[in-house]
Amino acid sequence: MFSKILVAVDGSESADKAFDRAVFLAARCGSVLDLVHVVQCEVGGDSANTFEIIEQLKEKAMSMLDGYKVLAQKNGVPIQVTIMQGDPAKVIIDTARAKKYDLIIMGTRGRSAFKELLIGSVSQKVMHHANCPVMVVR
Ligand code: ATP
Ligand code: MG
Repeated sequence: MFSKILVAVDGSESADKAFDRAVFLAARCGSVLDLVHVVQCEVGGDSANTFEIIEQLKEKAMSMLDGYKVLAQKNGVPIQVTIMQGDPAKVIIDTARAKKYDLIIMGTRGRSAFKELLIGSVSQKVMHHANCPVMVVR
């Protein structure tokens, strides 16, 4: 039913939970997981300095994704990890559309310090605009 699942992670506790549920579901449905982290490039300009910051963020992201990869493999779930760059919600929505995922799994909240909202803006945008089912894990 859900053979191809896109899981979006930002290193938050909430995303960890979402990942756990994704592995649980994938193990039972025989799904393949595509794990994605989007490096947000609000740091404008194209100076060497900006480039360096983005490269550092990507390196950090890769070690985070490697950790998730090990967890999935321990559970016998096939997984592929990708780092992308841009506006997280837009990248997740466009990727899901282009690669025809059956399901997107993400957390309710992320790393933001503004905790008064029940649901973060990335999850909210994806829920509104994705063209496939979205599971937001609480
Ligand atoms: P906001 O970012 O709106 O201030 P927040 O950080 O609490 O609030 P979101 O960013 O919407 O909440 O995070 C919700 C979920 O979206 C996360 O648990 C994660 O699954 C996904 N997500 C958020 N940012 C990214 C990102 N940069 N790359 C991949 N997934 C992300
Ligand atoms: Mg966020």
